[in-house]
Amino acid sequence: MGKIKSVAITTNNMKGKKIKLSSKKKTKEAREQCTHHYYSKGHMKTRLKSLGDGTGVCKICGTRLRFIPYEKDEIEDLMDNTRSLCNHTVFISAELGMKAQTDFIASFKTNLTNIEKICKKVEKAGRKVDTIKKKKNRMSGGGNAQLGSFVTGSGRR
Ligand SMILES: [Zn+2]
Repeated sequence: MGKIKSVAITTNNMKGKKIKLSSKKKTKEAREQCTHHYYSKGHMKTRLKSLGDGTGVCKICGTRLRFIPYEKDEIEDLMDNTRSLCNHTVFISAELGMKAQTDFIASFKTNLTNIEKICKKVEKAGRKVDTIKKKKNRMSGGGNAQLGSFVTGSGRR
């Protein structure tokens, strides 16, 4: 399997086991780009620390993220909220003559439908894998079947 470009970028931005670059600004941008995965000796790995409440922290970038897959209606609500915010902001920024901000948000808005489609597709695929892993876990008598086991266990091969 070929490498994922953005995971390779995360890997290249790491110094030791964390993202660290020559300036604070570059480090911040690299952290925002984090895929929460990295390559080590040809294998993709994660460094997630569970907080025991269905969320955890990526030790590479410091971001707190949810482990439980999002449901379709949750994605729709979040995207509707994002769309509302963007529509309001672009309206006000245009009124105020804030050119760069208006152009940025107007362009960003055109990506929202694609983002929503991708999120739904990925979350659905994630739920499927999660269900299979839980079933396997139950059959093998493993007691650690927990929500998000798919995410927390990914890449640790
Ligand atoms: Zn991360």
